[in-house]
This record gives sequence, structure tokens and C-alpha cells, in this order.
Amino acid sequence: MMKHTSLALAAAGLVACLQPAMANDWNTPQEPFALYGNSYYVGTRGLSAVLITSPQGHILIDGGSDKSAPQIVRNIRQLGFKVEDIRFILNSHAHFDHAGGIAALQRLSGAQVLAGSAGMPVLASGQADKGDPQFGDLPPMAPIANVRAVRDGEVITLGPLAVTMHATPGHSRGGASWTWTALEQGKPARMVYADSLNAFGAGSFRYSGDPAYPTARADIERSIAAVAGLPCDVLVSAHPEGSDLWQRYAMRAARGNTAFIDNTACRTYADKARARLATQLAKEAAQ
Ligand SMILES: [Zn+2]
Repeated sequence: MMKHTSLALAAAGLVACLQPAMANDWNTPQEPFALYGNSYYVGTRGLSAVLITSPQGHILIDGGSDKSAPQIVRNIRQLGFKVEDIRFILNSHAHFDHAGGIAALQRLSGAQVLAGSAGMPVLASGQADKGDPQFGDLPPMAPIANVRAVRDGEVITLGPLAVTMHATPGHSRGGASWTWTALEQGKPARMVYADSLNAFGAGSFRYSGDPAYPTARADIERSIAAVAGLPCDVLVSAHPEGSDLWQRYAMRAARGNTAFIDNTACRTYADKARARLATQLAKEAAQ
């Protein structure tokens, strides 16, 4: 029985962002590819990581899990870029499936790690936030040195690159989404790397009011609205299937990189999150 219980808990921990069936596939290898202009997908099949490149150095968004890091390194090198040229690693949220690989990627690159203020201590210590809706199910991560908190609206610049942070708390307390403009043959696309917006709590956590995180519902509602309202041509969400990345990828042969352009993508992503929140609140009301 004990064994059964701990297995169930381990499985619950892997539900960090979506259905358990997907968890086994998170680290399925994925060939890296260009999204648009200087922006490349370098993550695994189930965990996004995006590299934004420039002659003055690169910015990486998210590091997958600890098992993803070697694949991300390989993908960056396969594209012809140097991991050592990454200057900043930005994080969507401080859960093991998006931040667990950052420590290893930082060791190789020497990059500074940037995150929302509530995510910063989690990354620095490797210990889950007690106010996290999934606290209790989140495994520890390797602690990360040189982490800096970024505020809502702050712009991270590196040579010609400018990436804006949008605070999107609710799935975690320190969640962040990131936007920038990419150019391809002189034509701009508004790029969005969207944080997880799923209302998902461990154990008895209540989005409708939990002493561990009383503003969870208000936060996630505001974050969903914020992402819905972003200027958005190309969307990659922290879990790629959440923004239909693989359906778009499949159209690449016919349409080239325009396959990734969909200016309704952020609103669709937000609609799904709103439905998920309604399901969660209904479940809580029934309890
Ligand atoms: Zn998560």
C-alpha cells in the first residue's frame, strides 16, 4: 500500500502542467527548427525551449527538466550556435519540467538566469514554493546561482535583442511570459513564449481560496486575460502541444515558416485555460 501511495504521488508530481499520459513523452527527442527569423525551437517533444540569437550573444527561454538539458545543448549545437554564447536564460515558471535543466545549462554557458520575483528564490534554492498550487507534488531541483528577479513589463536587452517580461502568476506564483519581435526578410513577427496557465492544484489546494495562496484565482484570471491580449503572431507555450505547435510544425513542408503564424493563437490558448479554470472551480465547489 505504501508503495502504491508513493507511486501515485510520483505520478501526480508529473502532472505539473498537463495530463499524466503525456509525462512519459516529455523528453522524447525533437529535431531543432527555425520558428521565425532569429528564433528557434530547441526543446524536446514535450517541453519547450526557445533560442533567440544575435551576433552579440543569445537568449534562451526555459531549460526543460534535468533530463532535457543534454538534448537542448545538442539541439543548439546542431543549429550551429554555441551554448557558451547564451547570456541570459529566462524562465516561464519554477517547476522541475521547465527549470530543472537550467542549472546544467547555466554551468555550460555562464548565463544569468532571469525569472519572476516569486520564482527567483525557488530557482536559487531548488526548493518548491510553499504557496505553489502544486506544493507537495513538486520534486526539488538543482539550485541555480546568479538568478535575478525581473518585474512585469521589464525589457531584457542584449545587442539588437529586446525581450519583454509579462508577469503571469497563477499556475505558479512567479510565472512569466515573454515577448519579442523577430524579423524574417524584413518582415516582423510578434513572438510570444507563453507560461502555463493551467489551474492545477495538488491535494486539497483550492483556487477559490486557499490560505497558502489566497490570490490564486484572481492571479490566474488576470494572467489569462493578459496572454489573450498580447500582440501575438507566433506562439510557443511552455508545453508545446498546449499551443498546437506540432500541428503547425506538420504544415511546415507546405507553408514554410508561415505555418507558425496565427494571430488568434494567444486567444485560443487563453480560452483553453479559462475552460480549465472553470472545471477546477466547479470541482472545488462540488467538494
Ligand atoms: Zn508547471
